[in-house]
Amino acid sequence: METWQIGNVSIHRVVDVLQDIDLTFLLPEATAENLAPMSAWLRPHFVNADGSVPLSIHTFLVRTEDTTLLVDTCIGNDKPRPLPEWDHRQSDFLSRLEAAGAPRHGVDAVLCTHLHVDHVGWNTMRENGRWVPTFPNARYLIGREEWGYWEHEDDPFGAEAKNDSIRPIIESDLVDLVETDHQVTPEVRLVPTPGHTPGHVSVLIVSGGERAIITGDLFHHPVQFARPQWKDIADVDSATAEASRQAFIERFGRDTLVLGTHFASPTSGRIVADGDTFRFDATLQPNSPQSARSTRA
Ligand SMILES: [Zn+2]
Repeated sequence: METWQIGNVSIHRVVDVLQDIDLTFLLPEATAENLAPMSAWLRPHFVNADGSVPLSIHTFLVRTEDTTLLVDTCIGNDKPRPLPEWDHRQSDFLSRLEAAGAPRHGVDAVLCTHLHVDHVGWNTMRENGRWVPTFPNARYLIGREEWGYWEHEDDPFGAEAKNDSIRPIIESDLVDLVETDHQVTPEVRLVPTPGHTPGHVSVLIVSGGERAIITGDLFHHPVQFARPQWKDIADVDSATAEASRQAFIERFGRDTLVLGTHFASPTSGRIVADGDTFRFDATLQPNSPQSARSTRA
């Protein structure tokens, strides 16, 4: 299990699903030919020997001195889903979450960076034939703008999620609708990064002079730091998403540890300059001195 310490805040990655995918399914321009010039840093961790890429669906368990927070809740168990890897899963995710220090009754807050099917699944669990909140003592923080959009739209990757993973927590009165710059705790704040979805957020953690940012799906894969202009077919608004990616790289490319919401191991690293673009350097971890190449203002 990957863990990080950012000042007084600990972060654990708890994986729900790890799968290999054809990256062109998400990024049509990520062909073998277009990835080849970047193989020096993409391989072996971010592109497999056979050209597929690892995609991780995980929760970040974020613990401050007085708050236990989950960022994104993955696929979940028992749920009907269109992709075979996601359909009616039976994983031991909750046991592993508890082993990482967060029994489900001890979670204070649940935060979804956006409301796509792979970010809301463990919001609920099946009990006596009903979908009930998995974390009954938590406040679920849902973007007001995000829910305002999905309330009237269906997720193309899992339309059932709205009824089995979102509406039950609203009906249980566990949801706080929050703005895209909401301060969650003194150390944890949302950062608006719209485009992938209208109310999409990243999550900034600042403590003890250190900073980390959880990407959300603004970036599905590290190659997008080098090619932020490549269209991601999962983005609701491509132009806005590209602008958000460019702004993210400018803002967090210097002194902030980047935690990728779908990055398999290594999940974290820093954005560093690479010629006239950027790359993801996973050798730079918390407390690493800033790379001499990471000098872009
Ligand atoms: Zn996702």
